[in-house]
Amino acid sequence: LALGVPKESFKDERRVALAPDALGKLVKAGMKVVVESNAGVESEYADEQYVEQGCVIGNPWTADIVCKIRPPSKPEVAKLREGQILFSNIYPRQDEALVESLRAKGVTAFGLDCVPRTISRAQAFDTLSSMANISGYRAIVEAANALPRFFAGQFTMAGNVPPAKVLVVGAGVAGLAAVQTAKNMGAIVRAFDVRAAAREQVESMGAEFLEVELEESGEGAGGYAKEMSPEFIAAEMELFAKQCAECDIVVTTALIPGRPAPKLISKAMVESMRPGSVTVDLAAEAGGNIESTVPGKVIRTSNGVTCVGYTDLPSRCAGQSSTLFGNNIANFIMSMGDAKEGRFEIRLDDEAVRGALVTQNGKIMFPPPPPPPK
Ligand code: NAD
Repeated sequence: LALGVPKESFKDERRVALAPDALGKLVKAGMKVVVESNAGVESEYADEQYVEQGCVIGNPWTADIVCKIRPPSKPEVAKLREGQILFSNIYPRQDEALVESLRAKGVTAFGLDCVPRTISRAQAFDTLSSMANISGYRAIVEAANALPRFFAGQFTMAGNVPPAKVLVVGAGVAGLAAVQTAKNMGAIVRAFDVRAAAREQVESMGAEFLEVELEESGEGAGGYAKEMSPEFIAAEMELFAKQCAECDIVVTTALIPGRPAPKLISKAMVESMRPGSVTVDLAAEAGGNIESTVPGKVIRTSNGVTCVGYTDLPSRCAGQSSTLFGNNIANFIMSMGDAKEGRFEIRLDDEAVRGALVTQNGKIMFPPPPPPPK
């Protein structure tokens, strides 16, 4: 069984789908691996490192299985052939034309973004979580870089410095990583989420969980958030207005599957922040939680607040991201048969496999049927 790893073609994408270590595991398990020349060079992995792990440098598009990060572009779909297997982000809800082109080509496509997240076994394949974890970490690193002062408090002969105050809105995977990183750097951290389950996780990291007076459950399907009532959003925004006047850094991560990101921080709130303060909006690609965010850009407001709208945070830690992304794919592939026997099995009774399957045998397989009642 041959596996191919192309160089990512998306603009400014520095990651590679499989780092040498993860591929080494697949080679040892009996796979032949073909990596495009310089595929890993922007994530610090030279061709030689792949060769040391037993990979071959060559054309990855002729392999039985092709692994990518970004959804395949039109020219990339054109390189695929009938019967070939693709592992990649696909976002089938957002790009029906791509799904149709993969179906028409007869490709068996697995959407890494579609791996079910509620099955504990599938956590090892969950690229959304591993990338969100990196985004949350990197959001704080970007904020620290832009902030013209310390994170931790200090008592020095030159004067005493109070710790920086950080507000994290949305305490899912990325938000919790931001909370943890900011705590590790010595800041005072506060967080808010609409899901009650987030409280314990925030508090276990030594951060404060903020509350609104209004009671409304934020628990939606599959452990995700639901869209909140206008009254709840107004109450939340009132809380954030007070916090913005006090905090040095605001990191937002609030998302609702299949919906635009809720607008939670107004321009006026950003204008109420002290000069030198920083906002980082991880929802920038989904429309942004902060009115002042410009997706993909860093801007400085007239009152001196830096607003970071980067949409490529995992790519800004490309080596780390590629390692974890690659481990996720390798775990997923190794769960699907026995490479030594050249056996790769697509078992539709495996919930993780069925959940991620987007096209197969000329058919669109997304969305998967709901799981049988327990
Ligand atoms: P996400 O990226 O979709 O959203 C980020 C956070 O924003 C969520 O915590 C959400 O509750 C919050 N949010 C939405 N609207 C908000 C609002 N108006 N105000 C404040 N916060 C708001 O979520 P995610 O990080 O991918 O994870 C969401 C859930 O999925 C969590 O319960 C997480 O534990 C769970 N999860 C489970 C697994 C697993 O079991 N394998 C893996 C990953 C995530």
